[in-house]
Amino acid sequence: MVNVAANVWSHAEADPDRVALRSPRGDLSYGRLRELSARAGGAVVAAGLQPLDRVVFIAPSVIEFPVVYFGLHAAGVSVITMNTMATAPEIGYVLDDSQASLVLVWHENADAARTAAADRGLDLWIIGEGADLDAEPLASAHDHAPDDTAIILYTSGTTGRPKGVELTAANLLDTTSSFLPVLALTEDDRFGTALPLFHVYGQAVVMNTVLVTGASLSVLSPFEPAAMLEMLRRDRLTAMAGVPTMWNAMLHAAADYGPSDFEHLRLATSGGASLPVEVMRAFNERFDCAILEGYGLTESTGAATFNDINREQKAGTVGPALPGSLIEVRDTMGDPVEAGVVGEVFIKGPTIMKGYRNRPEATAEDLRDGWLKTGDLGMLDEDGYLSIVDRAKDLIIRGGYNVYPREVEEVLYEHPDIVEVAVVGVPDDHFGEEVAAVVALRPDAELTGEQLRTWAKVQLSAYKVPRLYQFVEALPKGATGKILKREIDRDAIRHAS
Ligand code: ATP
Repeated sequence: MVNVAANVWSHAEADPDRVALRSPRGDLSYGRLRELSARAGGAVVAAGLQPLDRVVFIAPSVIEFPVVYFGLHAAGVSVITMNTMATAPEIGYVLDDSQASLVLVWHENADAARTAAADRGLDLWIIGEGADLDAEPLASAHDHAPDDTAIILYTSGTTGRPKGVELTAANLLDTTSSFLPVLALTEDDRFGTALPLFHVYGQAVVMNTVLVTGASLSVLSPFEPAAMLEMLRRDRLTAMAGVPTMWNAMLHAAADYGPSDFEHLRLATSGGASLPVEVMRAFNERFDCAILEGYGLTESTGAATFNDINREQKAGTVGPALPGSLIEVRDTMGDPVEAGVVGEVFIKGPTIMKGYRNRPEATAEDLRDGWLKTGDLGMLDEDGYLSIVDRAKDLIIRGGYNVYPREVEEVLYEHPDIVEVAVVGVPDDHFGEEVAAVVALRPDAELTGEQLRTWAKVQLSAYKVPRLYQFVEALPKGATGKILKREIDRDAIRHAS
């Protein structure tokens, strides 16, 4: 059946007692997951919703998330998951754009959704612990057509209003089947994550793949390095998924743990933002396991390339295309470039979105003959491994020279006193843009911008060396823990320096 819920539910028939989910509040077996989600789906059907009606669902990474999520899939509605920090106007915008008819929200995050739903006269269901909805359970999951919109994820977007990325029932299953072999995942794996499940990476790449495989998933919310380390030890995790800022934070918090605490761990997956090579090395050493970096976008149902556990893993690359997908790097004229040349990354394959909801022009702009235009600059090597150089929009042009922030960040991450860094362009009257570094230091460290500048000069050409420095306690981060460069106040850096 073309329905991710049916695939997850199949494990309940084979082995109902097998653990599906673990959390600090307790575990849930596949049998119980199926029972509760069939009831959630039954409640939605009983309320009169039809397949492909839109339902907004807002919840953190708790075990009730998959209960409700798979219930909605089983009912055949299109599921829109949103950030638990979304405000009433943000939720209202999504409700209007998607013409949703129902809102489901986790009890601790209900205020904004309540306001947005009330303003529109929509029903709001509050999901409490257990998510045990009082309804007749569905006997089986709705059988989707492959092209039916199964989920709609709104990308926050740096310009304009958020766009609803429509991902189909087939996109979801193709993502799980192409990702699974890359990790050599089996039903004996114990996977863990503190990623938000409302975002494509935690949801479509990690949660769906782990549960379609029949393995177990440990969830944690919010991410906190000590709690994640504790989950790793307690649940004897064999694999975990996160973003670079999480690995970095865990490395700095792992001092109290010994080698036996991590002996089950065989791999970690990293995505969402570039993994500094320095962080990768330190992680390999500290946790004695592979860290596989991958790359993708909401528009590609998350992962599009991944370093494969069965193949050579190349540090600093995001790996080759996932099985079934193609990657091309093109010049500004749209022609493919040779290996070793930087250009814009395009992706084609079964995980590429159907389009942006109600936005034919934006869809035509980003989907060309089935190829997704990513807005990322990258380079392929002779073996088809992709390196992400930077986002096209983050490129700094200083006095006519291109500065790729990521290259500068890699160098600064090698400094032992730097915990986090973001390199951005700041408007400059003379050079057009000036290179600035926003830096978070270790708590006991003292460094001046001048010292960092002298240090960076050893490795970087003069025009790449940041002239401006801003010291902060922590960098602004988004829902996944990704550093949000768009929230850095460039004018403030300019005027302070
Ligand atoms: P928003 O929701 O604000 O639009 P976003 O643009 O970060 O957020 P996502 O779809 O979550 O949306 O992120 C996709 C982008 O993340 C990619 O286009 C790329 O720029 C970046 N990215 C993902 N993985 C990697 C990686 N391994 N290395 C470098 N960049 C990455």
